[in-house]
Amino acid sequence: MTLPKFKRILLKLSGEVLMGNQPFGIDTDFVASLAAEVKAAKDTGLELCLVIGGGNIFRGMAGAAKGMDRAQADYMGMLATVMNALAMQSALEKLGVDTRVQSAVQMDAVCEPVIRRRAERHLEKGRVVIFAAGVGAPYFTTDSGAALRAAEMQCDALLKGTSVDGVYNADPKQDPAARRYDVIDYDTVLADNLKVMDASAVALCRDNNIPIVVFSIREKGNLARVLAGEGTQTTVRK
Ligand code: UDP
Repeated sequence: MTLPKFKRILLKLSGEVLMGNQPFGIDTDFVASLAAEVKAAKDTGLELCLVIGGGNIFRGMAGAAKGMDRAQADYMGMLATVMNALAMQSALEKLGVDTRVQSAVQMDAVCEPVIRRRAERHLEKGRVVIFAAGVGAPYFTTDSGAALRAAEMQCDALLKGTSVDGVYNADPKQDPAARRYDVIDYDTVLADNLKVMDASAVALCRDNNIPIVVFSIREKGNLARVLAGEGTQTTVRK
């Protein structure tokens, strides 16, 4: 399938991707290689928004499972996404890419608050805007944050860079017969509870007609391939 030429995209990276081959935290060498991929994508003239998860540091559900108050644990998860955003900002700026971090939880000393019009201006000026802290509320995830920012920034697509190369009808790690979809519609993803993004994120993309492209960000050069409509991926659309 040939993808349409995108003008503006939102790239969502799960926190786990930033671990590289480490069991936890941020692998700065791997983040540097991710930043190089982002720069290459940006250099094609694309306007780029980024959302990074926090699962490499803290997930609210994990804290709640150990007895923490869920909302409190979720705020910790949101803070983790800000750390990741700052790590990515640093890696991008080392490569000469201008960036701004906007956080949904206000943190004036380290980054801007989320202001859509200001984010627009940054994109116009060729800056990469990294949106941190998801939607800024507990009981949500950064997938929902990514869908929300993709909608409000009127992105042409939400690219989800993850550890697998698309959406399968079963877990490919457990079932060798699992089949990858090239294209699948939002309603099937929701009805079959396929692991793409959480349901609220998928529904928000569906309602705003934003295609979700799921691909592996672990393979070098894959972001560029996916943007060129090549390589292995799954597109979720109407
Ligand atoms: N989180 C939240 N609200 C949001 C976004 C994130 O409460 O709008 C918290 C939640 O606890 C989540 C954690 O931040 O588990 C890290 O985000 P996420 O799990 O989405 O990261 P990823 O799986 O993409 O690494």
